[in-house]
Amino acid sequence: MNLLSSVNGTSVTLEWTPPLDKGGRSDVMYNVLCRRCSWDSGQCEACGAGIRFVPQQTNLAQGSLVVTNLLAHTNYSFWVEATNGVSDLSLEPPRFAAVNITTNQAAPSQVLAIHQENVGQNSVTLIWQEPDQPNGIILEYEIKFYEKDKEMQSYSTLKSKGNSTTVSGLKPATRYVFQVRARTSAGCGKFSQAVEVETAKAIPRYDTTTVVWICLTLISGLVSLLLFLICKKRHCGYSKAFQDSDEEKMHYQNGQVKFPESKFYVEPHTYEDPCQAVHEFTREIEASRIKIERVIGCGESGEVCYGRLKLPGKRELPVAVKTLKAGHTEKQRRDFLSEASIMAQFDHPNVIRLEGVVTKSKLVMIVTEYMENGSLDSFLRKHDGQFTVLQLVVMLRGISAGMRYLSDLGYVHRDLAARNILVNGNLVCKVSDFGLSRVLENNPDAAYTTSGGKIPIRWTAPEAITYRKFSSASDVWSFGVVMWEVLAYGERPYWNMTNRDVIQSVEEGYRLPAPMGCPTAIHQLMLDCWQKDRSDRPRFSQIVGVLDKLIRIPQNLKCTSTINRFTQTISERACIDFTSCNSVEDWLDSIRLGRYQENFALAGYTSLGMVMRMNMEDVQNLGISLVGHQRKILTSIQIMRSQLLSTMGSRRHL
Ligand code: AMP
Repeated sequence: MNLLSSVNGTSVTLEWTPPLDKGGRSDVMYNVLCRRCSWDSGQCEACGAGIRFVPQQTNLAQGSLVVTNLLAHTNYSFWVEATNGVSDLSLEPPRFAAVNITTNQAAPSQVLAIHQENVGQNSVTLIWQEPDQPNGIILEYEIKFYEKDKEMQSYSTLKSKGNSTTVSGLKPATRYVFQVRARTSAGCGKFSQAVEVETAKAIPRYDTTTVVWICLTLISGLVSLLLFLICKKRHCGYSKAFQDSDEEKMHYQNGQVKFPESKFYVEPHTYEDPCQAVHEFTREIEASRIKIERVIGCGESGEVCYGRLKLPGKRELPVAVKTLKAGHTEKQRRDFLSEASIMAQFDHPNVIRLEGVVTKSKLVMIVTEYMENGSLDSFLRKHDGQFTVLQLVVMLRGISAGMRYLSDLGYVHRDLAARNILVNGNLVCKVSDFGLSRVLENNPDAAYTTSGGKIPIRWTAPEAITYRKFSSASDVWSFGVVMWEVLAYGERPYWNMTNRDVIQSVEEGYRLPAPMGCPTAIHQLMLDCWQKDRSDRPRFSQIVGVLDKLIRIPQNLKCTSTINRFTQTISERACIDFTSCNSVEDWLDSIRLGRYQENFALAGYTSLGMVMRMNMEDVQNLGISLVGHQRKILTSIQIMRSQLLSTMGSRRHL
């Protein structure tokens, strides 16, 4: 009775209640029959092997089961019959309840058989069979490969339209692991079992001169290594000393743990010869096809210019041309072009589009689409207060869609910030800045961390700062900061707080308050992005969903907070609205340090105005022995100061 079905992709759950008449016995069992029916003729046939019945197909004691591994977009008919110990003796035909269902789309099944066709010193050719259940048209196959036992360090993927591929750029005499999976419009199937292949040994044939050269190279390599190690040691000592005196450069002693995310795009630096990646992914443009008109910006590697690109048979395009400064080293050239190799693999309306590269002329160039309004932070500062909240939210929606695309590809940006978003003439925002060295080298907002890398502290999730655990979830944290930057019209996150105080405040639970006029729902989304535990943060797909909903029902954007708000933890130790703190006494009580009132009075700090001008040295001279309390006082002063600045700025907006 009451046979119910619920379809989930290519699985179905069946549930039923016992028959009205159990034949006077208590040993009722159920059997399930499965028939597959054709769309056209309506004729049905037995489902055959390959389908899984959980827990089993026959002699079921309970009134439910799950059927999996069905074909996508297929009609099935399920019959559930009840039997008992005397059914076989009955002359009547078995009674059953029936239900017809149609399965939905599903990803292809696993690629089962991969064979190595050819193995060279630097390449391996693989061939495989189409999955048993493609469940649609196979758009492409993804081939994941890595050096054996080094998957956690890095792996690459290649794409192939057909069911064979040659993976090149491999090291000789090295054992590689390969896996293949199919992709249809419904998504990716499971990766196949891993196949291990060892590339062939290189057989060097050297004459005497070459041998001498090799020896010299080895010796010079050893000397360089020694020098490098000595320099590194010195550098550490230097940077430690430097850090102690400069809060912007910090060193954390926590261990470094590397767990790279899945990568479905190919990292250019996994190529032995990165030039090969450039050739493989990017289009070479003849320099004569570009007319450079003016300089529009200054990039890390050189000038950024506005220009016009005329390709044969195409209309002239306005483009941005990034140039590599003269006198560059080979490494700088490689790093510069690696950005193009990365960008070339992306194709999304909210990700900056690469037109091509110029590598064959003296001047090395990266040519991208031109974004009329330049970078988002300066654009917003220039147009302070001029947009509706809805316009700002639409911009954020664009950025989140670009990030959803990148995170789906397994690309972790690491430096998502308004300065790295470009805006075109229609206010469409696009994610940019994919350079390999960008986060590490030239970003003035970056500070040193444990591993010697530099990190833009204000935009970076705590686990990425502490353990260098960068992931799409840490990009989500950064996206929360970008949301804040956008709603605050390009204000600097955490204002003038030092990096050290930002880290400490965030660690203690402080979160940026809603900028003036920021809808509560948007601030809530920021706070969600800033969840301490990265698994509690929303994914980009969810962020896009929330923003879409807010855009569809803009009334939800109307509810705004009028004062800057603080999260629970900070409100425990700082005044929510500092104007309600009328005296030093009020303020100290609000941060639960009222016991130091006398210290302030003795040092002559009798008003909040005087307190707000105190610096670290002043706080140290108060005679408070607990460093933790000194720090708490200093942080609170900075927060009051930033509240004051923000309120002044917000009034300006109003
Ligand atoms: P970048 O080296 O990517 O940080 O670029 C430096 C500056 O050049 C940016 O801050 C922008 O002002 C400008 N810029 C870079 N790319 C473009 C582009 N595609 N369209 C317009 N301006 C750009």
